[in-house]
Amino acid sequence: MDPDVISEMPGKCPKCGMDLVAMDAGNHQGHEDHGGAEQDFRKRFFITLPFVFLVMILSPNIQKWLHLSINFPSIGLLLFVIGTFIFFFGGIPFFKAARGELSNKNPGMMTLVAFAITVGYIFSVAATFLFPGESLYWEISTLISVFLLGHWLEMRAVRGATGALAELANLIPPSAHLIKNGNITDVKTDQLIKGDLVLVKPGEKIPIDGVVINGESSINESMVTGESRPIGKIKGDKVIGGTINQDGSLTIEVSKTGADTAISQIMKLIREAQASKPNVQHLADRAANVLFFVAIIAGVASFITWVFILPNGVVFAMTVAVAAIVVACPHALGLAIPTVTTITSTLGARNGILIKDMKGLEIARKINYVVFDKTGTLTKGEFGVTDVILNLFQDLKKTDKMPKQVRHDKEWIKNDVIRFAASVEAHSQHLIAQGIINEAKKQGLEIPEVSDFKSFPGKGAGGKVDGKKVTVGNKALMQELGFKGYDLSVENTGTTVYVEIDGEVKGVIVLQDQIREESKQAIQRLHEMGIKTAMLTGDTKDIAEKVGKELKIDTVFAQVLPGDKVNKIKQLQNERNIVAMVGDGINDAPSLTQAHVGIAIGAGTDVAVESAEIVLMKNDPLDVVKAISLSHKTNSKMVQNLIWATGYNVFAIPTAAGILYPSFGILLRPEWAALLMSASSIIVVFNALLLRRAKLD
Ligand code: ADP
Ligand code: MG
Repeated sequence: MDPDVISEMPGKCPKCGMDLVAMDAGNHQGHEDHGGAEQDFRKRFFITLPFVFLVMILSPNIQKWLHLSINFPSIGLLLFVIGTFIFFFGGIPFFKAARGELSNKNPGMMTLVAFAITVGYIFSVAATFLFPGESLYWEISTLISVFLLGHWLEMRAVRGATGALAELANLIPPSAHLIKNGNITDVKTDQLIKGDLVLVKPGEKIPIDGVVINGESSINESMVTGESRPIGKIKGDKVIGGTINQDGSLTIEVSKTGADTAISQIMKLIREAQASKPNVQHLADRAANVLFFVAIIAGVASFITWVFILPNGVVFAMTVAVAAIVVACPHALGLAIPTVTTITSTLGARNGILIKDMKGLEIARKINYVVFDKTGTLTKGEFGVTDVILNLFQDLKKTDKMPKQVRHDKEWIKNDVIRFAASVEAHSQHLIAQGIINEAKKQGLEIPEVSDFKSFPGKGAGGKVDGKKVTVGNKALMQELGFKGYDLSVENTGTTVYVEIDGEVKGVIVLQDQIREESKQAIQRLHEMGIKTAMLTGDTKDIAEKVGKELKIDTVFAQVLPGDKVNKIKQLQNERNIVAMVGDGINDAPSLTQAHVGIAIGAGTDVAVESAEIVLMKNDPLDVVKAISLSHKTNSKMVQNLIWATGYNVFAIPTAAGILYPSFGILLRPEWAALLMSASSIIVVFNALLLRRAKLD
């Protein structure tokens, strides 16, 4: 597993020389499925195993222990032949990988392994032919065997950790029922193009992203959003490829294919996350570099010690040196962090939390201030029009009595205000705009086309409708542009949108948004965790404070212009807070970037997703709490792994170097060193795997 080895092209892995394998339904070639290497290690392990036993039986030392005596004239030569076979055939993967490391100028684990077995082998060959003496064939052979086994098992475990990407790719059913000219044919999913009509039968998976054209059903989207409740779908609703249709039958029109589909996007984000390195990775890398030299020094120093200072024979010294090098291999250290980040990103994805940058998740546990955007984040952002207040008095030149006729026509005038406003809002992206358009549709109003559309970010919008100049927006905008009637007194029961036509405010549309049920819990949970909360909105003070009070938010920033939102984040940061920003809109993007951790909610707008470190698939503020919990869990796993991977060396290296030998006769033979080294790597991987079952709350 090496998530940082990802290429668009098939080829060989620059790190270990293994073939890269396809990773998803698209063209990505990568290293996550290290299946080839895993099989290779297995094959080499089993093929060399009988020869390893043979070498052992033929070795004088083992015979002594077993009270055996097998001897014949050319036994040394036979040992040489078998040992050579094991050395080359079993050692090849390590030599290749060592070459990769060296050509990357990054000598590490594989270089050490290759070095250790090569030293042992050369010594043995010399002992066979140059100076008659004891050889190290059986030590080298068992060492290689244990290494092969260790790598095979470790890759199996790592495959378990990375399998989630493949799991996601497998969500997409291979074929779909294409409707063409009234006929239904089954075609391969990857042959579908935009605009195709596809039939989805009850219980089937949705093959691809699309829009419902016909039919009604509910869909289980939990694999993509983490939401376990089935979601009702009717004509016009979007469906996501890979989700499961429940009881109804649906006709969908394909809207996205290939790399644009939601699943492909999620896979891309997960890959990015796995490739992004948390800061602690640098620490691990540095430690691994140090260990590399510690290993070499330990090897050389113990050899010198056991030859010259405490003479015990060259064979003994060589064995000890090899053991010391082997046991110090910083392999576990290399795995300690990547295995955790891999599992974290897939665990997150399963819970509807996409981590774009591991550094963001890494800091998340230190957050002590969470700033929420109000509209669409803490509230549903589904504005309903509750009232339209007309500026009749102004129309009637401030007569104090309203004539009957005007009263009679009030509905008509109200609808006119909505109609003009809706035509301008048709070009706006704001959630308020959607509310006004919905109202116009509900009243069955025809929405005229707008020309010269202009947006006033965080204030409103304007344009030309039916030859009249129209501006919609908040009071501040009306005042700023100098329109008559902005001072119209309006009871502040909701979000107010002033509608100006030809220089005068003709009416005010009152809209009501609803607070999400989860918002209250989310704020409460954050407070329990000792985290302060703030709300950031362009809406009026009255509305903002009302919402803030209901949710018990610590700080409310109201009437903040889009360009100013980022300053509020800076302000909190200057007060030495670690700040997370949660938002969805285009105007939240700069604040998401500025915050220590930017969290885009509801898979928001593309810009918001781009600017964030963490993306929440659902519109659920409680997932912010989950993300922080994931950060804590991830961090403790990383720390555990780092402590284990470095800590075991404190005992292992001196023991392997023979420090306990003079007084206690305890020695770590090379094969035991290899076993210990492999075991420590496997422990690290399994410790990371435990994270898979973690509950986030
Ligand atoms: P928020 O911070 O709540 O997302 P914005 O900063 O986008 O809000 O907008 C602030 C205020 O500006 C809104 O509450 C609304 O009064 C006004 N506004 C912005 N865009 C529009 C629009 N398209 N139509 C009407 N009013 C708008
Ligand atoms: Mg918003």
